[in-house]
Formats: sequence, structure tokens, C-alpha cells
Amino acid sequence: MRINEERLRQRMDRINAIAVTEEEGMMRLALSDADREARDLLVSWMEEAGMSVRIDDMGTVYGVMKGTDEKALPICVGSHMDTQPNGGKYDGFFGVMAGLEAILSIKESGLELDSDLILADWTNEEGARFVPPMLASGVNAGVFDPQWVYDREDTEGVRYEDELKRIGYQGEKENRLTKAKAYLEPHIEQGPVLDAKGLSCGIVTGALGITGLDITISGEANHAGTTPMSHRKDALVAAAEAISRIRKNCIDFGEPAVITNGIINAQPASKNIVPGTVYFSIDLRYHTDEGMAELEQQTKDIIQKTCDEFGVSVQIEQYWRAKPAVFNETIVGCVEEAANEKNLPAMRIISGAGHDAVFISEIIPTGMIFVPSIKGMSHCPQENTKWEDLVAGTELTADVLVKLDKETI
Ligand SMILES: [Zn+2]
Repeated sequence: MRINEERLRQRMDRINAIAVTEEEGMMRLALSDADREARDLLVSWMEEAGMSVRIDDMGTVYGVMKGTDEKALPICVGSHMDTQPNGGKYDGFFGVMAGLEAILSIKESGLELDSDLILADWTNEEGARFVPPMLASGVNAGVFDPQWVYDREDTEGVRYEDELKRIGYQGEKENRLTKAKAYLEPHIEQGPVLDAKGLSCGIVTGALGITGLDITISGEANHAGTTPMSHRKDALVAAAEAISRIRKNCIDFGEPAVITNGIINAQPASKNIVPGTVYFSIDLRYHTDEGMAELEQQTKDIIQKTCDEFGVSVQIEQYWRAKPAVFNETIVGCVEEAANEKNLPAMRIISGAGHDAVFISEIIPTGMIFVPSIKGMSHCPQENTKWEDLVAGTELTADVLVKLDKETI
């Protein structure tokens, strides 16, 4: 499938000119005026193409291109147009524009598909304005309660629902995407793997599961001058040793296991007191449920053993657990086949980041396409993808939609 490259470029440039920061980053926070302007343009392009537009109660915008078979389930493609503060040009936005251009190209080629093709722009994927991320797709998948989402507030105390009303994008619950034959999300990789290998496409097989742990180590706060080294119960030294050991264990566990200690906090935080209490966070990710549980147990055991050695006590609490997502093998196969037919250098890859596709995969057969991120940069103004990779990813999206229409899933 050939696409209209010039139209794709002009439209991306148009929306990416809406709210630009001094460092040339994007500033389209969910449900802001900039988000509204981007939505208005998207809706106008959908209508111009003859798509019918519907909005659901979370503000997700859907454009429907009619298929020929009334009984066929629809096929949905999409992503999100909201950005991080000072974010990149392509995170999420590429998937929406690739989906739109793919649908238009299929129509203009004269091909008639059985299924309706639906383009979706999910609200508040980033979780930058309203925490947590993926709010609209989460409601759609039954993970979040809609009223709870409506009551989410940004840092200025402004409610999600009030902003949705203000920008004119509060639609009907009946418009949610509850049934579809397939959901396909094209996205930038946001990591360095494809770029480093010189590949132009990632066939995404799933996403890493996440386990979040809160660790609190309790020792003894004491005088920094009068307490000999042999008499100390230093919570920070125990934490430092534990962190270094669980990191090594994670590396030995093997890829794609990753572990991160994003927050560390020592109390009483005085320069001349031995730290008595230390809190640190753990974010641990793996691609299988059993493997993630095993790595979690090893991590806990190492921390416990280290604390025993240092004569301090420890409390470990799990605050978050999200199962790994496994995408639909037929859809993954369609992406692989289409990439091969186009001679695109590609590999199977697991997403380390969360995406709307992760939630949607709980109710609809799902797949994703990755295009490379130069040097793996994302959520920053340096985020970039070669134009030819964006074009190839968009053409691939169109090819996969056509394949999915024929396929039994
Ligand atoms: Zn994204």
C-alpha cells in the first residue's frame, strides 16, 4: 500500500505547531486548549474523509470508515495525541496519524474492506496531567471506574470531567469501543533497540508486567561522631548494599528483566546523624507472570538477607502489580508477514513501556507496530524518528489492516 506522504507530513507539522516549548518540545497536555485544537483538526480530517465521528464518556474520539459487511466486527487502529510536558513529536501522535493516513490510503486505493475501520485517539494516555496513565483506555477495558477517573485532579486541582466538558469532548458511554475484531497500535519504540540494530520495524509481541514494591529499612539513628563503626545500625548502608545486590541479581536473571530504584529517602536527613530509616522504591519488570513472581521473590530474599547481615529490620510492601500483556498471535503474525512482504528489516520485540494497547488487549485481540526512536530518546524534545521509518510504519499499518480484514481471529 502506498500512502500520501505529503499529506501525512503536512498534517503532522500542522498539529505539532500548536503548542511548542522554547526547547521545541510538545506541550499538548490531556484536555488542555492545545489538546482541544489538535482534536478539532483530527475531527475535521475524519469528517472530510467521510468518516462518522463519535466521542465516548472519557473523551476518546473515534472516526469510523464504513466497511461493506454489516455483520463484520470493526477493526480499530489508533493511539493518543496528548503529550508529556515538553514532550516529543511522535509519542502517541504517530499512531493516530499513521492510522488516519492508512485508512485514507486504503479507501483511495479503491479496496473495499468487510470491516468498518475505526481510528481512535485515547484520552490522557501519558498520565502527565491526570495521574495515572492510560485513563480512558483503562475505563474502556473495565480496569478503572469512570467516576474515579472523572474525579482525578491535575496539580492545580482541576477535575478531569470539568476539563472534558470545558473543551467540549464529553460524549456517551455507549460510544466506547467494547467489541472489535482487532486493535492495532503503531507507536515509536521509545527505546534504543531497533535503532541500535539498524532495523526499521518492531513486531511487538506484548508488554512487560510491572511489580512495584515499597521498602522501608529501620536501623538506629545515632550520633555521627560518638558511634563507632562497629556499633552502628545504619539503614542507608544496608539499603545501598541491598540495591547493589538486587541490581546484579536482575542482570543475572537475564533480559528483558529490568529493575529501578526511582526514589530513596533517608531519615532523619541530618548531615551528622547515622540514618535510622530509609525508604526506597522498586519498579521491577518482566515479560512472563511466573518469571516476574520469581524475580520478585529473589529480590525480597536478597533485601531480607542483606538487612539481617547489617542488623537492621525491613518491611516490604507490594503497592502495584500489572500482569505482562501478551498480544494476539494472529495479529503479531500479520504484522510479521506484512513486514516480510515489504522487505522491512524487522524483529520481534517486547514493549518495556505501558501503552493503551496493554489495557485494550484485555478485551480485544491486540497487536502493535514499533518504529525506531533515534538513540532511544523519548518523553523529551530530542525524541525523533527518521522520516522514511515513519512512512514505512504507516504503509505497514495499512497493509496490516488489509490483512486483518481477511484474517479469522
Ligand atoms: Zn505513547
